[in-house]
Amino acid sequence: MLATGRGASGYGSLPSPRLSETFHLAHLLAEGIGDTIRVSLAGPSKEEVKTGFEILKSLNLREKGPILVACPSCGRADVDVLKLTASVEKFIKEVKTPLKIAVMGCEVNGPGEGKDADIGIAGGNGRAIIFRKGVKVKIVAESEMLEALMEEVRKTEAEMAGS
Ligand code: SF4
Repeated sequence: MLATGRGASGYGSLPSPRLSETFHLAHLLAEGIGDTIRVSLAGPSKEEVKTGFEILKSLNLREKGPILVACPSCGRADVDVLKLTASVEKFIKEVKTPLKIAVMGCEVNGPGEGKDADIGIAGGNGRAIIFRKGVKVKIVAESEMLEALMEEVRKTEAEMAGS
């Protein structure tokens, strides 16, 4: 899992199996040492994504703007997850709304493993799936995927503003 957020403050509680790792990450982020963490846990990869959001939530990073959590990648990945994450991060840098955004490496498992995110993108061969809360919204060509992701960001922002 790779997670990024802007700034850091505070620290909350997490389920005990995750506590040790979270403790170290929390200190680094809370001290302002970098804004990117990478975590690999034993067990299902969907737990890593969930843990990533829990860590960032515990640090109140969501109050500072969007946070990204990327899957750890594996043999099923259809894309370079780190590269895709960097592209997404750059593309959404002006967004101020505290959204959770997942960047996943494959179409088959990505939406499900990233269901804790408000919005997600799952890479495919020459295309990508855009999803919200684990539900597919659309399939787009790779060349249009960042614009499509941003469209969902704007829609979600509008919904949040209206609620
Ligand atoms: S989303 Fe796909 S590529 Fe990423 S860890 Fe899960 S199965 Fe592997």
